[in-house]
Amino acid sequence: MRVVDDIADFVIVGTGAGGATAARVLAGAGRDVIMLEEGPLLRTSERPAEVLDAMALAFRDFATATTRGSYPMPMLQGRCVGGATAINSGIIWRLPEDVRQEWITRHGLGDLVERRALDDAFEAIERELEVTDTSPGLFGGNGERMAEACRVLGLPGQAMTRNAARCQGSARCLQGCPGEARQSMDVSYIPRAQRDGARLITLARIDRVLMEWGRAVGVEGVLVDPVTRRPVAQLRVMAREAVIVSASAVQTPVILRRSGLRGMVGERFQAHPGCAVVGRFDEPVVMSRGATQGYEVPLRDRRLKLETLALPPELLAPRLPGAGAAWQQRLTEMDHYAQWNFICRMEAHGRVRPALFGGGSGAAVHYLPTERDMERVREGIVLLSRMMFAAGAREVFPGVGGLPAAIRSVSEVDAIERATLRPQQLNMIASHLFGTACAGSDPRASVVDDNLAVHGTQGLYVMDASVFPTNLGVNPQHSIMALTWVAASRLANRALRGAVAA
Ligand SMILES: Cc1cc2nc3c(=O)[nH]c(=O)nc-3n(C[C@H](O)[C@H](O)[C@H](O)COP(=O)(O)OP(=O)(O)OC[C@H]3O[C@@H](n4cnc5c(N)ncnc54)[C@H](O)[C@@H]3O)c2cc1C
Ligand code: SF4
Repeated sequence: MRVVDDIADFVIVGTGAGGATAARVLAGAGRDVIMLEEGPLLRTSERPAEVLDAMALAFRDFATATTRGSYPMPMLQGRCVGGATAINSGIIWRLPEDVRQEWITRHGLGDLVERRALDDAFEAIERELEVTDTSPGLFGGNGERMAEACRVLGLPGQAMTRNAARCQGSARCLQGCPGEARQSMDVSYIPRAQRDGARLITLARIDRVLMEWGRAVGVEGVLVDPVTRRPVAQLRVMAREAVIVSASAVQTPVILRRSGLRGMVGERFQAHPGCAVVGRFDEPVVMSRGATQGYEVPLRDRRLKLETLALPPELLAPRLPGAGAAWQQRLTEMDHYAQWNFICRMEAHGRVRPALFGGGSGAAVHYLPTERDMERVREGIVLLSRMMFAAGAREVFPGVGGLPAAIRSVSEVDAIERATLRPQQLNMIASHLFGTACAGSDPRASVVDDNLAVHGTQGLYVMDASVFPTNLGVNPQHSIMALTWVAASRLANRALRGAVAA
């Protein structure tokens, strides 16, 4: 195999929320940056409108990766330039204040989440990524019905804040935003970093960080074929200043462990799993019109957040109950369904290790919700089902195995409320993943310090969702970007001072 060599001041592995923001800040400060991304660059205008084709290109393992053990739970991740931001709905939430306080008092992160610096970062990102509230005209039938349910039941519903000020309501966020209204990293911070001189190498799968006497001096991996994903060349990129690993909460610990790092690396895996409830209405809902996600109900004290989530027909069809002619009949009513989901701030902790089989950046993720988590999940399903009826649904499909697949009255929701739910009865999915290189002041209980530098090493940083010591209960991309912004700005300044002194 041929060998490709390169060198830069800063080498960044991964181009998702963390990696792209690091590149934006460091290149913006005039630093020499190389971004390495395992997936391809997908131009939004060329991304297929058909959701399964789009998923095949942009999702890691076609969205088939699951946790291991008695309950295999799918984990959705992006594998393309922009990472999961290229397939997400653009929902924006600042770090909740109670979480910030917990990170200061229990994890010693007062410097990292210092209010002024963090607020400045949030404001800069909101300005640059065109963050705004979703207008009611973009709720679509799905959001309008959730707003109605909140009105009837007295729930604190609200328009979502998103980084998509020019959204046209095409309900296609999973496929990439056709008009580039949504400011995912592939259309915002990565091109901006490139304009500031950063270089991007795609289809570059990094296997390990090269360490010399405790210092990160570069990374090595392979360039892969875009179709077969087989290696076509060896790749070695040296770093004059630092290596920043931003490969996500699943892949970052795999790379660090393959590089010989141990301790808490891969521990404390946390998530916001959730599931969805579908309702059938007499009047058309037309989920294909409106923002993919536009309306939400944050219930922090219950560790739940309810959201609208419009699904294209290809993904909705398997959620419809029945078989044969009865199921076909349901397909004729595609425009009459609404779908809402919740995310749960679970207390369960799991673990990530390099997979013994599968090779590449394969990870083995072990995770199981606790009994208390499952009580909250049940509460979420009960609440969404009641809300569907409050909004006028004729039928509700709660999606709980072993209980009726379709219920027609609110009194039938009581059976779900009385049930003890096991994870195996549900189709939970996790797309918010955290914690596997967690930040903290105690090197025995954490992986990185409050500069996001790996304890006990030099020139090695982690800037992605792995550094969160806890989950949040809200959508995380804004907090990932803001933490990265703070740490990367300090790193750029330190590097600059070093260069001037030399
Ligand atoms: C379908 C979906 C919808 C979501 N919706 C929202 C939302 O609306 N709002 C919100 O706040 N959050 C949302 N999220 C979550 C959010 O997008 C993620 O939490 C966030 O993008 C994680 O950022 P990250 O930098 O940790 O990793 P990622 O964004 O996952 O980026 C990691 C990158 O590293 C690359 N990589 C991995 N391994 C290697 C390797 N070995 N070599 C080179 N490159 C590698 C990956 O290909 C990827 O591009 C959603 C997630 C999904 C999947
Ligand atoms: S709903 Fe459509 S237009 Fe709006 S942000 Fe998503 S993909 Fe873009």
